[in-house]
Amino acid sequence: AVPSGYRGRFAPSPTGDLHAGSLLAAFGSWLLARAAGGEWWVRIEDLDPPREVAGAAERQLDALANLGLHPDAPVVRQSGRGELYQQAVDRLLAAGRAFACHCSRTDLLASGGIHRQCVARIRRPRPAIRLRVADVCRIEFVDAVRGRQSQDVAAEVGDFVLKRADGYWAYQLAVVVDDAAQGITDVVRGADLLDSTPRQILLQRALGLPTPHYAHLPLVTDAAGNKLSKSDAADPLDLARPLPALRQAWRALGQDSAALERAIGVPGLLAAARDRFDPQRIPKAAISAASHNTVFT
Ligand code: GLU
Repeated sequence: AVPSGYRGRFAPSPTGDLHAGSLLAAFGSWLLARAAGGEWWVRIEDLDPPREVAGAAERQLDALANLGLHPDAPVVRQSGRGELYQQAVDRLLAAGRAFACHCSRTDLLASGGIHRQCVARIRRPRPAIRLRVADVCRIEFVDAVRGRQSQDVAAEVGDFVLKRADGYWAYQLAVVVDDAAQGITDVVRGADLLDSTPRQILLQRALGLPTPHYAHLPLVTDAAGNKLSKSDAADPLDLARPLPALRQAWRALGQDSAALERAIGVPGLLAAARDRFDPQRIPKAAISAASHNTVFT
C-alpha cells in the first residue's frame, strides 16, 4: 500500500550514462514524489539489447546513489519480465485488439509509416504484433506541466507495435504493463515522451488498466537545440561533483537557486530541495544545456 497514495518512478534505458537531461527526469520525478509524501521507484528499461551499452545500467544506478536519490523498492529490470508482456499481448490477441503484422519497412513507407492495414504480400516467419487502433481514436489527457493534450492516434500514429518482428518487446507495451504492475500512480518523465502518452492510455484502456497522472518535464537541448540523448554520449554527469549537477537540475526545473545556496552536502541539499520545491515553477519550454553550463561551470 502507498501511504500517501502517490507512487512515482524513474525508468531509464541503459543506452548510456546519465546526463543533464536524464538527471532532470530523475530529480524531477523524485522531487514530485517527495513533495507529495509518496514513494519513488526505479526501473531499468533494458528491452533493446542492440541499443544497450554494457555496464550502463550499473553506472546509472551508481550515479543515482551518488546523487542521494535512493529508490523505495528493489530496482526492477524489464529484461526479466517477458512473461508479463506475453500475457498482456495474449489477452489483446484473444480479444481481437491486437494482430500479427507481416508488413515490411517498405510496405509501411508506402503509407507514410502509419499502419492502417496489412499490405504485406510475403508472410514472415516471425511477424510483429500490433495494436489495432480504431479509425476514429482521439485520446485526450491533462498533463500536470503542459496542460490539456490531444492526439488522433489513428491518423498520427496508426496501429502500433507491441512486439517487434525481431522478437523484442516494444517500449509502449512494457511501460504500460510495468507501470500498472508496480502500482505507479504518477508518471514524470521528459517531454520527448509526451506524444507516446496517448498510445499508452489507449493500451491501458484495451487492457483494463488504470491510467496514471502524467507530468512531462522540459527537455534539455544542446547548443544547436537538439535533445540531449544518452546514446549520443551527451556530456555525462561528473559523479565526483554531485552538488553542482543537482543545483543545475534544480535551476532547469525552474526552481529558486537561492533556496539551495546554503545547503551542505548531498543530504542537506536534498532536504532543502524537498522543502522548497514548487511544482508550479516547472517550465514548459525546452532548456538549453549550453546556457546552463555558462551559469554553472
Ligand atoms: N525508458 C525511457 C527512456 O529512458 C523512459 C520511459 C518512461 O519514463 O516512460 O527514455
